This record gives sequence, C-alpha cells and structure tokens, in this order.
Amino acid sequence: MARTDIIVLGAGIVGTSIAVHLAKRGVSVALIDRRGPGEETSYGNAGIIEGNTLFPPAFPANWAVLMRIAFKRSPQVNYHLAHLPAIAPWLAAFRAASRPARLIETAQLMQPLFARAVAEHEALAAEAGAERHLRRTGWLKLYRTHAAFAALAAELDLATAFGIANVPLDRDAALALEPALTGVFRHAVHWTGAMSVGNPLALTRAYAARFAALGGVVARGDARTLHLATSHWRVETAAGALDAGDVVIALGPWTSDVLGPLGIKLPLAVKRGYHRHFRAQRDAELRRPVLDTENGYVLAPMEQGIRVTTGVEFAARDAPPTPVQLERLLPAARNLFPLDGPIEPQPWLGARPCFPDSRPVISRVPRQRGLWLACGHAHWGLTLGPVTGRLVAEMMTGATPCCDPTPYSADRFLR
Ligand SMILES: Cc1cc2nc3c(=O)[nH]c(=O)nc-3n(C[C@H](O)[C@H](O)[C@H](O)COP(=O)(O)OP(=O)(O)OC[C@H]3O[C@@H](n4cnc5c(N)ncnc54)[C@H](O)[C@@H]3O)c2cc1C
Repeated sequence: MARTDIIVLGAGIVGTSIAVHLAKRGVSVALIDRRGPGEETSYGNAGIIEGNTLFPPAFPANWAVLMRIAFKRSPQVNYHLAHLPAIAPWLAAFRAASRPARLIETAQLMQPLFARAVAEHEALAAEAGAERHLRRTGWLKLYRTHAAFAALAAELDLATAFGIANVPLDRDAALALEPALTGVFRHAVHWTGAMSVGNPLALTRAYAARFAALGGVVARGDARTLHLATSHWRVETAAGALDAGDVVIALGPWTSDVLGPLGIKLPLAVKRGYHRHFRAQRDAELRRPVLDTENGYVLAPMEQGIRVTTGVEFAARDAPPTPVQLERLLPAARNLFPLDGPIEPQPWLGARPCFPDSRPVISRVPRQRGLWLACGHAHWGLTLGPVTGRLVAEMMTGATPCCDPTPYSADRFLR
C-alpha cells in the first residue's frame, strides 16, 4: 500500500498552490486529480489577480434590476427556473449577506487574503520560473453612466483606506491606456496594483511543475473514492490505493461530491460562467482586462484571443450549457471593442464555487480527524490560490499563520 503524509484532492489553482506550499515545508504530498492540473475552472477565468473588488457581487437591492433579471433581460445574470427551488435557501442567505453593513464586514474579513494575493503569486511564479505569465498592467473597470460611477464612491473610499492603489480616469485618460477601445464609456478606474495572466492554465501547470520538482507526486485518481481505512484516509489512484494521515479537499465546484458521502453538508452553490475567444479586427490590442461594469462582462486579452467572460448563471452544475448571456452582452462588447468572429465553435462553461457569505472555507473540518477543506473561492480563486496554499500549509505544519484564519473556518457552517 503506497503512503504519503498528505493527499491533496483537486489540482486546480487552489489545490496545486497548497501542494507546492506543503512540499516546500518538507512534507510528502500527492496531488490527485481526474484531469491534468488547472484544466477546469482554473483554466477558464478572466485571468485577473486582484484584491480590489472589496464588495462582493451582491443580491440586487433595486427592484428594476431584479425585474430585468427575472424577465431574463440582464446580461449579468441568468437562471434556470427549474433550479430555483433547490437554490432558494442559498439565495436567501446570499441576500442576507448583501446588506450594506455585511458587505463592509466581508470586505474587512477578506482583506488579509486579498492584501497578500499579488505578492504570493509573484513569489510562487518566481520560484516556478513562471514570471513571464504575469502581466503587471493592472486592470480597468469602465462606467458608461455617471450614476454607476457615483455608486462606486464608498468602495473607492474603503480601497483608499486599505491602501489599494486606484486611479479614477476620465474617458480620454482611459483611452490613452487602451487605444483600441471606443469611447462609449464616461469614467474608468485603473486598479494599478492588480496583475493578470494571458494563460491561466499555463500558470497552474507551472506551479504543478514546481511541485513535482520539489519531489511532489501528481497522479490521476477519482476523489470520490476517498474513505477512512481504519486509521488512515485512502484514495484509489491510477497507480493503486494511496493512504495518508491527512487529506485536503480542494475540489472547487465538485467539493460536495466528496463531502456528501461523508455526511458533511456545506452551503456551497455554483455560479456558472461562460467564456468565448474572439479575434480582434485589424489586430486591435488590449493590454489588460477590462470590465464593462453596467453590462457585467470582462474582455480579457489571452494567448488564444480576446476572452469574453460572462457574469453569473444560477443553474445546476451539470445542466446543459445555455450561453444566452453571451448573446445578450455581445452587442455591447462589439460596441466597446472591435471584436471579430469567435475562435471556438462553442463557448466554454465553468462553475464558480460559492458560499453565500462570499468567503472561502480554508480550515480543518470539525470532528473529522485529518480532514481539511480549501474551497468556495467564488470569483477570486485564481487570485487567492497561492495565499490559500500558504495559509493551509502553515496551519497543517503548525507554523504561525500569515493571517487569522478564523473568518474562513468551516465552523461557521458546521457547528
Ligand atoms: C467565467 C469565470 C471568470 C472568472 N474570472 C476570475 C478572475 O479573473 N480572477 C479570479 O481570481 N478568479 C476568477 N474566476 C474564479 C476562479 O476561476 C475559480 O474560483 C477558481 O478557478 C477555483 O479554483 P479551484 O482550484 O478551487 O477549482 P478548479 O480549478 O475547478 O479545480 C478543481 C479540480 O478538481 C478536480 N476534480 C473534480 N472532481 C474530481 C474527482 N471526482 N476526482 C478527482 N478530481 C476531481 C477537477 O478536475 C479540477 O481540476 C472566474 C471564474 C469563472 C467561471
């Protein structure tokens, strides 16, 4: 029977970063996935490594916005009617967490992670020889109306109080940064401290290669085979059964597939999202990701082309794709940037793993010996992967954690 100190289940950006941080501390680790590292949600995101979206996406307080969503007119949000009963309790908790005072509290509780996110990527990328993937040009949020920009005031004040660099720009100043954009917007904010990547898959693969160079084992296996075999956790891999005293579950949107059979129930839902790559007309270029705030999509320059990523779809994780949001937002996107035709025949579909309070769970599972969780990174898993890796490794090896892990504990759901 093969043995290792720790098994990490899930080789997305979160699990891979945990594996590297553990291996650096001299622990023997096996990183298990049914696919190659970084090929699922960690592949398809907008590539932004940020710490500036202080107020998480909130349940709409405005009835006009809610009605647009209800009548499926909103580019930001889509839903499957049949899924609403299943997700209703989660939506109610999400709504409660969207009150202004709770949003400020969330911003404060998440700040210790976000404040370290960029530096942790820089350190890991330097070790992994992957610095070429990091683009240090910040990112731009655009506002088509004065009202949308004015609504940002509280968040900008908080960002400044937290020391997060932000530069409000008028249209001309933003166009000087991104000359290929049209001038359909009125305001912009340049978040200069953020980074982005033109190939999120390559970044996770580089971190996985660093893990292997440290002596870590990357193997194929089905995490759903996890079970307690007398005093150890056991997982079936392509190379046979593997035992360990400790297991970290970092399965992103698939976390519940493993927790459910163990009798552990967490309020983890998915916010599905799509992307599609487009060619640019006349070789027009983007130098950094751009958010069209009122239309809720991002244009992200990727190695494959301009990646258009959508907002949120509430639907069962495995339901067939319904990429209607791309159709709804494309007129606005084409009006902002000279997009040409799509590159792939079909859009990519992924699922953001989300708790209703918009905080991840990064902690030991109460009353389960040797079972740890790192999941629910929602809209910020790429951003928070490496800092999560550090925090988990510090907690598991008994080192002083880089920040207080209490706000990310599973205890808030599993009392
Ligand atoms: C459209 C979109 C845009 C986004 N943009 C950004 C962004 O710009 N910046 C940002 O920070 N975040 C962004 N995100 C969020 C981010 O991509 C996710 O939070 C992050 O990728 C989650 O990482 P993870 O490692 O938890 O999950 P994943 O990357 O999904 O990894 C989970 C792994 O578990 C494996 N797995 C599942 N089931 C099993 C099983 N039974 N056995 C073995 N292995 C299994 C999967 O193969 C997968 O590799 C975006 C998400 C979407 C959908």
